Amino acid sequence: MGKTTIEWCDFTFNPWRGCTPIGAGCANCYARRMARRQPAKFGVWARNERRIVSRLTLPWQWNRRAIRLGTRYKVFVGSMCDWAEDYRPVDAGGEVIRAWQNEVYDARSRLWAMIEACRNLDFLLLTKRVSRIAKVLPLSWVCRPRPNVWLGASVSTQSDADRAAEFLRQSSSSSGASGLRSNSRRRWFVPATGRWRG
Ligand code: SF4
Repeated sequence: MGKTTIEWCDFTFNPWRGCTPIGAGCANCYARRMARRQPAKFGVWARNERRIVSRLTLPWQWNRRAIRLGTRYKVFVGSMCDWAEDYRPVDAGGEVIRAWQNEVYDARSRLWAMIEACRNLDFLLLTKRVSRIAKVLPLSWVCRPRPNVWLGASVSTQSDADRAAEFLRQSSSSSGASGLRSNSRRRWFVPATGRWRG
């Protein structure tokens, strides 16, 4: 996490590490392959495993540096997670493990607050869970998109792409794909079969 070799961003940041695969589009998940080698560092790719929650110190440092240098940095959120994951781990008895779930919810809340405050960073929020974008983002962002938030969808099916296109069209701060007939320069999109790393 931090400085990255991904050419379309300056840094990567993960509010937590670990994810639950949701379909065929996850079969070639780069993060999952990395995590298999170092699960203690990168998390475990399973529904009922605890996520590794990150501290938020680095983005604040990048923001201060951006202010000092009079520039902006692009921060890819979620190279090792999906920020829109519906995380519902259950124990052996089928009960939701609230403590673990709350860790992720808290991390997401802190992420939103940090994004609001770090005005010299553009946050690239990519997700495969397109149908959850509007549910997970703060309501005020859906009503009034934040200029430093670029949304993107990684899609595996045409229906995913259609849902993504519809949502992204409705949001002026969304990051859309060239293939989504977007007319906004702020829109940006990474196809699942392209360079998507999540
Ligand atoms: S990080 Fe993305 S591609 Fe990987 S398992 Fe999670 S949703 Fe699927």
